[in-house]
Amino acid sequence: MAVGQQQFLAGRSARTAAQRAADLLAVLRVDQPDPESVSEVLRAHGERESLRLSADEVAELRQAADALYGVFAAADVQEAALRLNELLAAAHPPRLTTHGGNFDWHLHIDGDDDAPMGEWFLTASCLALAVLLAERQQLPGRICAAPGCGTAFVDLGGGSERRYCSSRCATRQRVAAHRRSRQ
Ligand SMILES: [Zn+2]
Repeated sequence: MAVGQQQFLAGRSARTAAQRAADLLAVLRVDQPDPESVSEVLRAHGERESLRLSADEVAELRQAADALYGVFAAADVQEAALRLNELLAAAHPPRLTTHGGNFDWHLHIDGDDDAPMGEWFLTASCLALAVLLAERQQLPGRICAAPGCGTAFVDLGGGSERRYCSSRCATRQRVAAHRRSRQ
């Protein structure tokens, strides 16, 4: 992996990394993921402006996204933990890195600083989601309950569980329920 891509390999808080995972799922889990849309999400999460992903890298990221979707789609904490454990079993032992002094020390569970992009995305996201699950004893994310939506979102609010990815989906559901009740 090119040195310039190290910026987004750097450690982020678990929250930021979980949000990045959800944002990437939205652009990767489509029929034909657009390399530019995926690059744009990575740039929005701190990657260098000149990032351009290859088709192979997008394919790797897509595969990782499909695996991560299973964690977001878990019915409860138990199931999410089991799915995370399955994915973490393929990770490497935790190691500390600064990417050659370019960043603060932070944890990685990919093979090395030049690991393929898909491996990096999967392991960094699993680490973040596992940390959040353990910290909060709740699902770190979910899939939107609005029919036909399917968007993965991070749920780090307190109190009641969020069911929809956005206020737009929540409103759409409220209106639909209201219509049904008047029929
Ligand atoms: Zn939605």
